[in-house]
Amino acid sequence: MRRPTIEWQVCGHCNYDCTYCIQSKASRQGHPSDDEVTKFLAFFSSLPNRWEIKMTGGEPFSFKAFMGRIIPGLVATTSHKISVLTNLSAPNAVLDRFAETTYGRLGVVSASLHLEFASAEEFADKACRLRERMAADATLVCNSVMVPGQLEAAARAQAVLSARGLKFFPQLMKTKSGVFDYTEGDRKRLLPLVGEAPSPRQANVSPSYRGRLCYTGVDYFVLTQRGEAWSCRTARRFNEGYLGNVLEGSFARRQAPARCNYDICPCTVPANRGMIQGVGDDLVGNDLLGEGP
Ligand code: SF4
Ligand code: SF4
Repeated sequence: MRRPTIEWQVCGHCNYDCTYCIQSKASRQGHPSDDEVTKFLAFFSSLPNRWEIKMTGGEPFSFKAFMGRIIPGLVATTSHKISVLTNLSAPNAVLDRFAETTYGRLGVVSASLHLEFASAEEFADKACRLRERMAADATLVCNSVMVPGQLEAAARAQAVLSARGLKFFPQLMKTKSGVFDYTEGDRKRLLPLVGEAPSPRQANVSPSYRGRLCYTGVDYFVLTQRGEAWSCRTARRFNEGYLGNVLEGSFARRQAPARCNYDICPCTVPANRGMIQGVGDDLVGNDLLGEGP
């Protein structure tokens, strides 16, 4: 079943600077103005039906208006489900407030562990604390990029998180053109972490769905901090699938699905929200484990 979803890049700014970040430093900055935040909130409240608004960055919590206006505004003026992708670096007091404000409206918290900036132990403490404050129907998933040459550390982190009962979602490292070409040794180390043939719920291995019918652009789209809407991330990379700008009033969704024309589907969100024909059809309720950026 399709679950209408918007992936909104709330801001470009991030408080981390991971060496493997897929976003260039130049694009990892900026945020909407006060006036633009007002327009975004008006746009979301004008959408028919209930959507899931999955907020990404940069790091959403590093933008003051995220907790100051956006989260309270979405809760007060819309009925949409709220999800977030975060590096979980915000102080516990802020995360507590987030859990309290979104209680009953939260979908998925996708928490990314970046071992260059946080230890698995401190990350697990914060993730467990947040999970305790979330309603039973909300989900918390922990992601981590499988950094070449550092897979022993990733395996140790997986053990720490699993011991605390946290779901762990490994992500193969991406490059501009696809998935990183791991060495033979790293491929062996990846096997116990990622599995032989993982589904989009178990790991993000950036498969190809070329030729399948895809509802992105209809019931899913990507929204940038500048208000530009694109049918999916891959389409945007090829400068295709532009749907207009929600801040300028030129946004329009596609009326019908289209066949996928790409060799890589780098994000699991469309697959896990039922957008791609024949993929993830078995997913129900909040059974959404795969939540990579
Ligand atoms: S936390 Fe995410 S967005 Fe920020 S630098 Fe690291 S990978 Fe990039
Ligand atoms: S299958 Fe993936 S890459 Fe292809 S159009 Fe859909 S979301 Fe984009």
